[in-house]
Amino acid sequence: MEFSSAHKTLKLSDGIEMKQNGNLSITGNGDIKLNEAALKELGFIIQWSEDGTVGTLTKIKEGHVVLSGEEIAFAAMAAEFTELISEVARKIYDHPQMAFTETYACELLCEVLSSQGFEVERNLRGVNPDTKDAWIMDTAFTATLKGNASGPTIAILLEYDALPDGHACGHNLIASAGLSAALMLAKQMGALPGKLIVYGTPGEEGKAGKAHMVEAGLFDGVDVALATHPGDRWATGSDFLATKTATIVFKGVPSHASAAPEKGISALDAAVIAYNAIELQREHLRSDARVHGFIRDGGKVTNVVPDRAEMDWGVRALDNVYMEKLADMIERCARAGALATGAEMEISWSVTYGAPVKVEALDTMVIRLAEALTSGLVKPFDVLGSSDVGNVSFVLPTCNLWFGITPEGVMPHTKEFLAASGASESIPSVLTAGTVIALAARRLFMDREMVENYKEAFTLSKQKLIAQG
Ligand SMILES: [Zn+2]
Repeated sequence: MEFSSAHKTLKLSDGIEMKQNGNLSITGNGDIKLNEAALKELGFIIQWSEDGTVGTLTKIKEGHVVLSGEEIAFAAMAAEFTELISEVARKIYDHPQMAFTETYACELLCEVLSSQGFEVERNLRGVNPDTKDAWIMDTAFTATLKGNASGPTIAILLEYDALPDGHACGHNLIASAGLSAALMLAKQMGALPGKLIVYGTPGEEGKAGKAHMVEAGLFDGVDVALATHPGDRWATGSDFLATKTATIVFKGVPSHASAAPEKGISALDAAVIAYNAIELQREHLRSDARVHGFIRDGGKVTNVVPDRAEMDWGVRALDNVYMEKLADMIERCARAGALATGAEMEISWSVTYGAPVKVEALDTMVIRLAEALTSGLVKPFDVLGSSDVGNVSFVLPTCNLWFGITPEGVMPHTKEFLAASGASESIPSVLTAGTVIALAARRLFMDREMVENYKEAFTLSKQKLIAQG
């Protein structure tokens, strides 16, 4: 037996045995990562034999026990996948591909899942929620594994798209954490009722891939969805801001800037007016509103009146309705620029990333599991981003687990986060996140009533969110 820091590594030698009273006798092999302090807090007593090779976990306070002995034995299986999961995380990190082009990760994940008995389906039909156009999402997939009887259908959501500079949002680790959960569950599905579906969801960054999957009905029939995301801490129930982005193109009339300026219409002037108008509106926005933009193109040479200008804007708010109001504001300001200068204006919007419907009881169940297994920082988020997990949460109970891979305060989409996403030091957190998701799914498979309760809570939470908007 060997302890390291607060996050204890218990080195075992023979196996793990369940005693009839539900207590766990450890005489095992491999490593179990358990947070001994957290286990004690939860009412477990850990007793070791004199030579330290045999340990017994005893439940003492029924009401305080968060993990059963059986669950601890199940959690211990994560160690089996350390090597494979490190490899998958590293390979996807080394082959970063942006939204909807993630062929490498898709291929790799499908290969591993299919080798573990999952029935893999690829080239899924997606539907653009705005245009209703159907298209083939060739980097999306589902991998399904049936249990021993009918029961709940539980989804695990994987992401694997990169940013232009690589995996600075750590989606390689989302894929790895989800994969580890799926592989752990695969070992027990033969004894569990229900159906496990692993969703390969491409294009989270900027393309809202999940929105296309939701619109196509790919989540129909799923009871609960479980997602993860690396961050600087462990948290569930975080807000995501509803968001969408606009590309605005102004078209003016080119002319020699010195010989015939009176004949020109400056598209850049239109963009500048729009930009300033949007900035002036800031004073009148709700405090959760986020408006950010830049001018991408404002002319080519000084001696020609710019006949083309292009700008990008993103709007975000805590609810979809207010976010749409911000989008209207952007359009008004863009029209102002066009009107003032006589330029033409075209605006096109991305697909919406929805605000999440939260199921508090589900979030609580998952974060309690995380607390029991991690010694990392557990703390709700107060910094807000956006994710297309919000779109899934609008159609079924969904929990997103943040797992800590960086010191507090390091945000995704930074150089520091890029480094953490590729570091082997992040793998223990990835495996713990996978274990939490696997344990949560296992509980859901075993407890239909729990699933029904979450579905009821989801319906109420959604109604409330819509009424607020
Ligand atoms: Zn991300």
